[in-house]
Amino acid sequence: MSSEKKQTRVKVVVRVRPTLKDGVKTCVSTNNKPNTVQILNHRNIRENLMYDFSAVYDDTCSQQHIYNNSIKSMISKSLNGQNVSIFAYGPTGAGKTHTMLGSATDPGMIPRVINDLLLTIENEQKTVNDKPQKDRWQYTVTFSYLEIYNEKVQDLLEPASVDLPIREDGDHNIFVAGLAEKEITSFEEFKNYFGPASNNRTVAATKLNDRSSRSHSILMLKVKKNAMFPPNREFQGKIYLIDLAGSEDNRRTGNQGIRLKESGAINKSLFVLGEVVDAINNNQPRIPYRNSKLTRLLQDSIGGSCHSIMITNIAPEEHYYYDTYCTLNFASKSK
Ligand code: ADP
Ligand code: MG
Repeated sequence: MSSEKKQTRVKVVVRVRPTLKDGVKTCVSTNNKPNTVQILNHRNIRENLMYDFSAVYDDTCSQQHIYNNSIKSMISKSLNGQNVSIFAYGPTGAGKTHTMLGSATDPGMIPRVINDLLLTIENEQKTVNDKPQKDRWQYTVTFSYLEIYNEKVQDLLEPASVDLPIREDGDHNIFVAGLAEKEITSFEEFKNYFGPASNNRTVAATKLNDRSSRSHSILMLKVKKNAMFPPNREFQGKIYLIDLAGSEDNRRTGNQGIRLKESGAINKSLFVLGEVVDAINNNQPRIPYRNSKLTRLLQDSIGGSCHSIMITNIAPEEHYYYDTYCTLNFASKSK
């Protein structure tokens, strides 16, 4: 057996969103076999292509179901001091933001993770005195919110027009120097910070013509854990929740000039992300983390002993067929 430490694989699942109007033609089927997606015979792809994944969530799957099946288990990992990353990949319009953020009436993974994490900690605190002294811990949760746009790192909690540097400390922890960090003890507190921060993003989006689909939006939770007896024992877990830039292809959208540059930067970091996931899942010795800002930031939270999942969002309509084809190829290459 090789002496190389085995990397924890990045789990890849697929979610198909429902059609948004009645009567539109679709080109995706999930009925064939469990956990498969098929692109149905199409004029440009003359065979029925079949892909299989560790989980495929069809258009009837609820946020709750996806959370319970694929995400919930990440909470205890982070409470044990491990790093976790959860990201949504796919073309614009396929349901990434719906999956990660959702709406007030149908919350997505971000609010569910935060709620669950804070409730778990609250319950833990209630029973802390029933535990042996060595198992008594105090927790602090902080969150940061940033975006990577055009290979520039920008703070959304406390915006400033600087490209924040990504650094590594002596323990190989990766951090963004100068990034704001807010402590949260309740979901209400989180919302009070997050609301205006999302607004910052929306304002930028209208100014820069749908910047939101071209930037990676990254929410980071730090879970700090301090021993009560004896004090000074301390662990930290991180949870990254990422709504990736749209994966659509330049050729079809006809991007030019500044848009092309933006798309180039996006495609570069998505391309590198694909290579990183590929290298981790094939247990290669060298992982090209440093080839993009996104993967450099994720270096301590994907691969190694970290737990990661990529939710691949696809749209079922026929006019998305080429995006769906590219997206499923990307996702199945490294699953
Ligand atoms: P993306 O972030 O990938 O560009 P969105 O999340 O904005 O895509 O989704 C596009 C549209 O589809 C939105 O109007 C969204 O509300 C809707 N949508 C996406 N996924 C679902 C779903 N599972 N159920 C119902 N509506 C959805
Ligand atoms: Mg979106």
